Amino acid sequence: MKNTSPQIYLDYSATTPVDPRVVDAMMPYFTDSFGNASSIHSFGRKAKIPLEESREKIAGLIGAAPGEVFFTSGGTEADNHALFGAMHAAGRLHGKKHLAVSAIEHHAVLHAAENLKESGYDVSVLPVDSTGKVVPDSLAAFLTPNTSVVSVMHANNEIGTIQDIPDIARIVHEHGALLHSDTVQSTGKIPVDVKKLSVDLLAISAHKFYGPKGIGAIYIRRGVEVDSLMFGGAQERNRRAGTENVPLAVGFATALELSVSDLEKETRRLAELKRKFYRLLSDNFNTILFNGHPTDSLPHIVNISFDTSKVDVDGETLLLNMDLRGVAVTSGSACSSGSMEPSHVLQAIGRTTRTAKASIRFSMGKYTTEEEITKAATILKEVVAQSSAVRA
Ligand code: PLP
Repeated sequence: MKNTSPQIYLDYSATTPVDPRVVDAMMPYFTDSFGNASSIHSFGRKAKIPLEESREKIAGLIGAAPGEVFFTSGGTEADNHALFGAMHAAGRLHGKKHLAVSAIEHHAVLHAAENLKESGYDVSVLPVDSTGKVVPDSLAAFLTPNTSVVSVMHANNEIGTIQDIPDIARIVHEHGALLHSDTVQSTGKIPVDVKKLSVDLLAISAHKFYGPKGIGAIYIRRGVEVDSLMFGGAQERNRRAGTENVPLAVGFATALELSVSDLEKETRRLAELKRKFYRLLSDNFNTILFNGHPTDSLPHIVNISFDTSKVDVDGETLLLNMDLRGVAVTSGSACSSGSMEPSHVLQAIGRTTRTAKASIRFSMGKYTTEEEITKAATILKEVVAQSSAVRA
């Protein structure tokens, strides 16, 4: 299905449209098979079967056992469950109260870490290099006998950098700690296999790969101690109370299956579009810096900063002017307490506050065409010419 609207959506990392085949797969579970999956009568049993089949499908696609996959309301809850659940269990059972998180984690991890710090846990922030990588060899210096959990995302949502998770896992495990990895941006885009990655905990969110919003999962490796966050019924084998959302679980599994079956072809197509977009931007501007790793990067994310020593632009103004011209992108700032704060990710890779604020993220998806990126590059050029002052 092509985007037939005059608008150009280049914000697939924020969210994706639900694939019509996913909508079709979900529909019967809103109306016909509407039972409560925990009820033991026939209506309940009819809902329980697709719930468990979805869990099996998802587990199979990430190399896990069905008993290691627990549904959540999305990536944020999965990250929170991993951090709070594993830290509380390790503190309670082993007296280990140190957490280490990378500087470029999503706020679902960073703000959870801040909250743990306020409750008396020790928290270290792992630096990244100028490409956004946690350097495995420098990791050991941050780990102590008290470290129970390390959280390093698989791929970054702003700059696309892919981490060397198996190498990081080896060091974390040598120090007797657990590794949590947020794979919200990588699942469905690049191969994600819990065994190959060697992770103990992992977070997924369905709305990033053409599934519905409001559902995700946490993978908890068998034997890993994680406290529950939600109390009530015995759903999700006592780990997450609350009536199971069968239609969303079916949509999640269908979307993941479709994304994984298209993964190789789609990765090649997007990587080619990304190369072309880089070329267009390099031809149009001599004032931009590309953010992220040159090769270990998600195929659909392009993040640029304007070199503020050469040109005076503001990412927020560019975003609004691009939007007026029908192009949806994200800037390198986020609204925090009513003011625009520069991205913590861009600052962590060494961009100054001013440069971080002069940044734009483009993220492509399965409906993005070459025509769209060509048009977006032209519109960006016009918008920059309108709203910038070139330094002498
Ligand atoms: N982690 C990463 C890397 C993300 O990009 C996002 C969403 O933007 C999340 C976590 C949160 O996921 P959700 O929107 O499903 O709560």
